[in-house]
Amino acid sequence: MSETCNRRQKCEKTRYLEREKCIFHCDKLNFDANDIQQFWHQLRDEYNISGVYGINQDKVFEGISFPKFQNAHRYPFNFFSNNNRLERIFTFKKCVFFDDVDFTNVQINRNIIFEECVFYGDLKTNTANEIEIKNCEFKKEITALRCKNLNISNSKFINNVLFIVGKEVKLIQAVFRKKFEIRGSSILESRYVKLSLINQFLLII
Ligand SMILES: [Zn+2]
Repeated sequence: MSETCNRRQKCEKTRYLEREKCIFHCDKLNFDANDIQQFWHQLRDEYNISGVYGINQDKVFEGISFPKFQNAHRYPFNFFSNNNRLERIFTFKKCVFFDDVDFTNVQINRNIIFEECVFYGDLKTNTANEIEIKNCEFKKEITALRCKNLNISNSKFINNVLFIVGKEVKLIQAVFRKKFEIRGSSILESRYVKLSLINQFLLII
């Protein structure tokens, strides 16, 4: 029996414990705290995101199954950067998030892009310049996604959604199955958030 990850697209990494895939590709349903720590440790290593001076390149994470995000209060280093600031564009492509995607301790000064991802948990940010969501599916509620500009296209939201936006929300063929709410990030800004709809149907009940 082969000891390498058995995912369809070739992967040379060794299998993680008794699983059939490596730590990046196996599902994260029964991941305990130790597994989660292992995952982030290896991810930081592989993607070179543990430098003391932060990250000086854009990063693309493709085809990865993510467990719960580590919280900066509980760990000495943040999962993605040591200074809790992202100055580069991060792209998540064809990733699956088994738990909450939690960027609440990170100041996102550029863009985060999610493309063809599936979310089984919440997506939380405190500050972000721009978040782009393309061809994604959200199975659970989104309780507080905060950013300046939010750009959503061809994506499906199965549960309630709350976006807290500073400047503009752009929706292109998004589907909202339940409650969909946009708030401004301050009372003053609430009056000026721009909503752009392109090929977008809104069913108002
Ligand atoms: Zn693999």
